[in-house]
Amino acid sequence: MDFLHSGLAAVQRHLAFVSVDPINWKFYVQVFSWGVTIFESYLLLRQYPLYSKTSPPEALASHITQEDFEKSQKYGKDKAKFSIFSKLFSQCVDSAMLQYGFYAWCWGAAGTILGKFGYGTDYEILQSIIFSFTMYLLSSLPTLPLSIYSTFWIEERHGFNKTTPGLFVTDLLKSWLVAFALGAPFLAAFLYIFKWAGDRFVPWLMGFMISFQLLMVILYPTVIQPLFNKLTPLSEGELRTRVESLAGKLRFPLKHLYEIDGSKRSSHSNAYFFGLPWSKHIVIFDTLIQQSKPEEVEAVLAHELGHWYYLHPTKMMAISQIHIFTILALFPAFLHAPPLLRSFDFPKLVSAAPPTIVAFLLFQMILTPLEAFISIGMNAVSRHFEWEADRFACELQDKLNEKSMNDMGDRLGRALITLHVKNLSTVWVDWLYSAYHHSHPTLIERLRGLESFRTKRAKKE
Ligand SMILES: [Zn+2]
Repeated sequence: MDFLHSGLAAVQRHLAFVSVDPINWKFYVQVFSWGVTIFESYLLLRQYPLYSKTSPPEALASHITQEDFEKSQKYGKDKAKFSIFSKLFSQCVDSAMLQYGFYAWCWGAAGTILGKFGYGTDYEILQSIIFSFTMYLLSSLPTLPLSIYSTFWIEERHGFNKTTPGLFVTDLLKSWLVAFALGAPFLAAFLYIFKWAGDRFVPWLMGFMISFQLLMVILYPTVIQPLFNKLTPLSEGELRTRVESLAGKLRFPLKHLYEIDGSKRSSHSNAYFFGLPWSKHIVIFDTLIQQSKPEEVEAVLAHELGHWYYLHPTKMMAISQIHIFTILALFPAFLHAPPLLRSFDFPKLVSAAPPTIVAFLLFQMILTPLEAFISIGMNAVSRHFEWEADRFACELQDKLNEKSMNDMGDRLGRALITLHVKNLSTVWVDWLYSAYHHSHPTLIERLRGLESFRTKRAKKE
């Protein structure tokens, strides 16, 4: 541990200027966040003209009807227009909140609310919880109309929306309640560790965050998801038999196999698995089952099990631990930095002894440009994992020595095309836009990949 702490101390010495130099952090955050928004708008402007193309790429021409292609172009265009508007709108709101001291105001308001209940400002953790929720609720209000417009106009017009206004409101209230029920104890424990461990908080906080993530792996499917969706055991039949036999052959520890009523809100479709290493659950969207044949859904699951086989979720989690560690290792320099709070309009009294939650929030804003780069890297890793999982599905016939699986690649290709067409996903994609935003390769890239796995295999034989 001492090795760790002396390493961390060296990082702090390099960053010591943060706690003394009066740097105009607010200005930097404004410039950086506008920079990210302008870059993302530029990407949308690169992508936008592609929605005016009148015919699909050659590789897809035989798989998609002209009518479906035109529908997907219109849907993409509507979404892109909305996306540019909402991006600029949210940035203006955020920028104004930053400029006019919204965060400092929220901290003061939390203190006032606390005072009404007879508690003083020495109850920092309590004040931090009130601060976080005031901020979360107030800052989500300006974008609420956008989310209503997106659900009830755009998705509706293109035939995807199944959400009723009543469901929309209850979903919103439920998500606020869940955020509070989970967020408040999480935040309390998080802040308590800072107080308790002092400047040696990094390993303790890491341990806490990992335990929390594992707890969520158990809680999310069992407690949270049932609040929003209904999971029913997949009925007996060809699909169930196929999936169970595939899981059995791969020794995938399948505990439950569910169908989820994704169609309650939207007709977008999907499949996924979750759970602890020794007990996994597979969930298939009812929409996927309706749209594809059992052997094609089986191929989608072969791809999903590829993620499991190559430990992709575990690897992703490991990467995110490194990410969290880096953030925590840099943080102490910003934790005791009065000039940081001063530059965001916090009063002298608060800035003199910065509340941990405030320092952490401001620190996160300063990291925005760094986070944009990290998300590009994460997307690249994720796209590689998708490619690996597709290859896994194609190689199953050899892995399991199962002749009947020799067309798994074709089946997966057909399922992907159906998913793509039914979801009206974008057909023409700008490479830079895709590199920045997409966690999955484009459909054409995936079909090309499947084709190349097949030819490589044929050459070997
Ligand atoms: Zn995948």
